[in-house]
Amino acid sequence: MSVLVVGTVAFDSIETPSGSAERILGGSASYFSLAASFFTSVRIVGVIGQDFPQEYLELFSQRQIDLEGVRREKGDTFHWRGRYHEDINVRDTLELHLNVLAGFVPQLPERYRDAEYVFLGNIDPVMQLEVLNQIRRMKLVVCDTMDHWIQGSVEELRKVLKRIEMLVINDSEARLLSGYSNIVRAARAILKMGPKVVLIKRGEYGVLQFSDSSIFATPAYPLEEVFDPTGAGDSFAGGFMGQLARSGDHSQRGIRRAIVYGSVVASFTVEDFGVKRLTNVSLPDIEARYKSFTELTDFHT
Ligand code: AMP
Repeated sequence: MSVLVVGTVAFDSIETPSGSAERILGGSASYFSLAASFFTSVRIVGVIGQDFPQEYLELFSQRQIDLEGVRREKGDTFHWRGRYHEDINVRDTLELHLNVLAGFVPQLPERYRDAEYVFLGNIDPVMQLEVLNQIRRMKLVVCDTMDHWIQGSVEELRKVLKRIEMLVINDSEARLLSGYSNIVRAARAILKMGPKVVLIKRGEYGVLQFSDSSIFATPAYPLEEVFDPTGAGDSFAGGFMGQLARSGDHSQRGIRRAIVYGSVVASFTVEDFGVKRLTNVSLPDIEARYKSFTELTDFHT
């Protein structure tokens, strides 16, 4: 079973209390696809510029990630520059250059149109809708978004929300989208907008999952040092959806397991800069940490 992702393939320049990195591989589709590729095959829909290096494309190819849907356009690649505070949960966007992403109209290769698992990464909701319109068969559509789109394109975002099963969103963005500061109320209000499941990411505090009939909470895996939190949310989503596609189990139990797999993959991502850790961790490492995660949260024994 393969997963299709639309999102950014980017250059990121990052400063964290542990160090800095210039123009490294980033973007929501990059983190998502590398994370999901541990579990299932992945196809990317996105855009890069003339300046995008071959060695970054090879990182994807080494993991058998399908790049037929990545178009190379005239111009420069999307570039994001961010700085994290001493409190690593807080970050500022210092620069955002859309470059080739401005005006990008996703065009799915013919063989992508039967995608059953679809992740609409953090990107303009107009582009998310464009992707949905081109897909023939869908089993599960999961969507991410951010404050930028909630503030600027809420009408289009609401159209997307009516057509998806699950929304993955930060706590502050859930408050912004719903107008409620209480997170339970915020989640209930978002459920009324369309998705059957809302997953609220709370950084180092973990994830809360809401549906009409249940609430599930998991912590983040406790780490002594977080080098670079960039991409944690997208890696979470990649591990989560990758596991759902691998297992085919969309029951409440299956969703809970997938949330823990997502949390495990995200915990590896933040151990080094950019996607580095995702390129040197293995599936047995992920399974081992999944097992210790089970012990971490077990209070039945
Ligand atoms: P995360 O840390 O999981 O929220 O995602 C970080 C990634 O989002 C970075 O690699 C950036 O390249 C990308 N990003 C930052 N701002 C935007 C934006 N406005 N639209 C799309 N992607 C973005």
